Amino acid sequence: MSDLREIINPATEEVIAEVPALSVKETEAAIARSAAAFASWRKVAPGQRAALLRAFAANVMSHKEELALLEVRNSGHTIGNARWEANNAADVINYYSGSVERLSGRQIPVAGGIDITFKEPVGVVGIIVPWNFPMPIASWGFAPALAAGCTVVLKPAEITPLTAMRIAELAHEAGIPEDVFSVLTGSGRIVGETMVADPRVKKIVFTGSTEVGIHIQTVAAAQIKPVTLELGGKSANVVFADADLDKAAATAPYSVFDNAGQDCCARSRLLVQESIYDSFMERFEEAVRSVRVEDPLLESAEMGPLISAGHRKTVESFVDESMVLFRGSCPSGPGYWYPPTVLEVSDPNHRVLKEEIFGPVVAVQTFSDEDEAIALANDSDYGLSGSIWTSNLGRGIRVSRGIETGNLSVNSHSSVRYWTPFGGYKRSGLGRELGPDATDAFCEIKNVFINTDI
Ligand code: NAP
Ligand code: MG
Repeated sequence: MSDLREIINPATEEVIAEVPALSVKETEAAIARSAAAFASWRKVAPGQRAALLRAFAANVMSHKEELALLEVRNSGHTIGNARWEANNAADVINYYSGSVERLSGRQIPVAGGIDITFKEPVGVVGIIVPWNFPMPIASWGFAPALAAGCTVVLKPAEITPLTAMRIAELAHEAGIPEDVFSVLTGSGRIVGETMVADPRVKKIVFTGSTEVGIHIQTVAAAQIKPVTLELGGKSANVVFADADLDKAAATAPYSVFDNAGQDCCARSRLLVQESIYDSFMERFEEAVRSVRVEDPLLESAEMGPLISAGHRKTVESFVDESMVLFRGSCPSGPGYWYPPTVLEVSDPNHRVLKEEIFGPVVAVQTFSDEDEAIALANDSDYGLSGSIWTSNLGRGIRVSRGIETGNLSVNSHSSVRYWTPFGGYKRSGLGRELGPDATDAFCEIKNVFINTDI
């Protein structure tokens, strides 16, 4: 029997479930079953594999409300966000069901024969996900992996495993064999580490902190095991004087306080052009003060609690009260609440400008011109996301090209559309997920030459 771990609702601090924490031995046994299942899954006819994935997507879609409610209880996400997340997972599975029949190689002209490339599934894929967006992030890995003909062992974060476990059941009900898609619950140190080190796992997709990502890449390197890394961020929201200030200010809280700031794409640095600082900040303050931080089950909730008491301590450790410009409000407890908080920081090397806080905290800086805006935005080890607000299309494009980051939006705070690529520059990651080419990350390319002169 595995040990059990208690799962806590971060909005109430109540224990809501007990989940097995797998041992090294149990993890290795699951990997062995996955490797055995690969032999038959890779041979499933493309049309049939596509149909199984479509049935899986439909099953997730028809259980969207149940999954959303489960995520609210496990992760403290607002019900509105949790519905979007369940929907996103269903859409992603559906999208990659369409890749199965499009996963084609090439025929390249050569003398004396025919040259063909085949895309072949790598084998067992290990997917390790964090606690901040359990459903979407898992699906961005497992959906293209299954579509490519790989089998999947998925390790959710130890504290937020419930929706992944339910999604696996929905896959099995839809006809995907249990050992083709299995969820291995337990700790990163034991289950995650075993997955990365086991040579039968041929590829790792890891989403989480840069620190653990570096460790995973190091362990994987010993086996030349490919890794996709989706890591931390410290993204900038750059507001130029010629922007629609009402829209920029009204949406800026969402860009950093959504999911209580526990978002790798959070625009946690707000860069405002000096000439509009006062008029922008007045609007922004009003918007921050009106963010509804409340019971995440309420339809009106815009922000819920942080994930844990420990994480709240970490967030608090960044905030020196003398830097607080203004903040919103939040319930007092039970629950791991923290208010939306806006800081003004004079030292450009202060840790609140350098490190990922992963909470509802934004630091404001000013810039004088376009060059300074780009330089400040790039003054970070990270490069995941960001926004630019301007009514000048040329500037929007110039600044987008100047900022070293994988995803940018102009006059918008969106970061993720599942049919476009997503990933980071610099210490934000390696490789891309989503978009039309994501299945390639789960394939080896085999080149075959056939001599026609024989
Ligand atoms: P984390 O501590 O790095 O953990 C992420 C996952 O890795 C968890 O499942 C964790 O398991 C597991 N893990 C920990 N140590 C491991 C090891 N030695 N070997 C294998 N697996 C291990 O990150 P987190 O605190 O959950 O999530 C927050 C971080 O994720 C932030 O830095 C955020 O920016 C990043 N993130 C990035 C993206 C992106 O797409 N770029 C998206 C979302 C989040 P346990 O939970 O059991 O410890
Ligand atoms: Mg962690």
